[in-house]
Amino acid sequence: MRAKRKAPVRSPSAQRVKATATYEIAEAAKLLGTHRNTVRRWLKDGLRPLDNRRPILIHGTDLKAFLAMRREGRRHRCGPGEFFCFKCRVPRRPLGGMADLHPRTDKVIALVGLCERCETAMHRTVRHADLPKLAAILDLGPMAPERLNECSDAKANGDFKEG
Ligand SMILES: [Zn+2]
Repeated sequence: MRAKRKAPVRSPSAQRVKATATYEIAEAAKLLGTHRNTVRRWLKDGLRPLDNRRPILIHGTDLKAFLAMRREGRRHRCGPGEFFCFKCRVPRRPLGGMADLHPRTDKVIALVGLCERCETAMHRTVRHADLPKLAAILDLGPMAPERLNECSDAKANGDFKEG
């Protein structure tokens, strides 16, 4: 007889996630036998919510992809200027050495680049503090909030008046 014990979970089973379903944080946590806070952390680490509305919903496809990425990511460490490509299943440099910045929280920023080999979008979460280092090896753009503000200010201050 097998005792019903929690086996040491190497990685939460992505098999249980249905690609066609959407999950609330609590549902996803229960399904994967993990804590809600873990799922919240995943959201900060790059797991994509369905939209910005509450309650937060996560699409099964995104959840599966994220879990697969974590599993692979542990096996292959990305170098400083590399991203993990889902499709190639290895770390890759982004196309043209370019990555776009998408702020997530006060502390972290998501970087998005295209795989130089297959042009699949690749995501990576980095700390603000690491940006100067990354800027030295990658061409980061297009958004720095300050810069965007400058642009709109410049426009507003220009001779844009009518009559
Ligand atoms: Zn690729």
